[in-house]
Amino acid sequence: MMVMTDFAIEAVGLSKSFGRITAVANFDLKVVTGTVHGFLGPNGAGKTTTIKLILGLLKPNAGSIRVLGFEGGGKKIDVRRKIGYMPELPKLPFILKGRELLEIYGEIYGLSKKDRSNSAKRLLELVGLSDRADDRIAHYSKGMQQRLGLAQALVGDPELVILDEPSLGLDPVGMVEVRGIIKKISSEGRTVFLSSHLLHEVQQTCSHVTVINRGAKMIEGSIPTLLEKLSESNKITVELEKVSDDIMKALEGLNFVEDIKWEGKRAEILCSTTGDFRADVSRAISDAGGLIIGMKVDERGLEELFLELIKGRA
Ligand code: ATP
Repeated sequence: MMVMTDFAIEAVGLSKSFGRITAVANFDLKVVTGTVHGFLGPNGAGKTTTIKLILGLLKPNAGSIRVLGFEGGGKKIDVRRKIGYMPELPKLPFILKGRELLEIYGEIYGLSKKDRSNSAKRLLELVGLSDRADDRIAHYSKGMQQRLGLAQALVGDPELVILDEPSLGLDPVGMVEVRGIIKKISSEGRTVFLSSHLLHEVQQTCSHVTVINRGAKMIEGSIPTLLEKLSESNKITVELEKVSDDIMKALEGLNFVEDIKWEGKRAEILCSTTGDFRADVSRAISDAGGLIIGMKVDERGLEELFLELIKGRA
């Protein structure tokens, strides 16, 4: 039954085991329609298994999954047709030419000869392969193969595009190209669900993220919200014109200060809670007769948070 939804993917309590190995455990996921949603986790976290559950290629042991408003994910062929999928390191038939591959996929999707030719042409343009369209895939670089993989995921004009580690094995130039294509895919109004173990890829490409580790959800939210949370740093470094006992006492007296490390005229102030304490620090120092020459808020990125999460410290 079709249910109107703001979520392209909605999973509740999803679990999947392979014998004694639990790949996904009581996992919840919400992917807002129209967003580029990062699915971040280290190797073996359960990303590919979750994707296969979404696609209906695997059956969950427990939990429910709704994709594009339909119960059961891509199990139903009508739903599956609306999902574009690029597997991790797609294995493309080397014997074919890029254009041929896309036209064959078009045929599978039931497009007329003219439509599949137009679709292949448009997609080759989108992924920047027009000038190599009639070369064999065997002669494509890794980056070109990956871009062709992205194009094949778009053949059926999908509403939802699922990309499993699209930048795996690419050099920085290849990564930038893939990032540009993902932006284009998103600007066409499609929802993109992108799995990655690369923080900066998710940070630069996605508007939302769900972090998974050992099959369980660690954190979720919009990238700006997460970054905002992180920018409420708990470490402030100030450089003073000169240090005095009064300044030291004033800083130690601030109720949010947990610890201060002095290194010459530089103080590293560790706060007990997160928040923006720059004004309080500045006022305390000037009230004690001091002068601030420099102030730096420790900006943690998603990378640091991610490492903390997977070490189980956050
Ligand atoms: P990677 O980025 O390395 O591909 P991942 O996050 O995609 O990792 P999964 O491939 O989902 O992780 O694997 C999660 C866990 O499930 C791993 O311990 C893996 O060995 C196990 N697993 C996955 N598929 C199977 C299977 N068919 N049979 C047995 N174990 C499996």
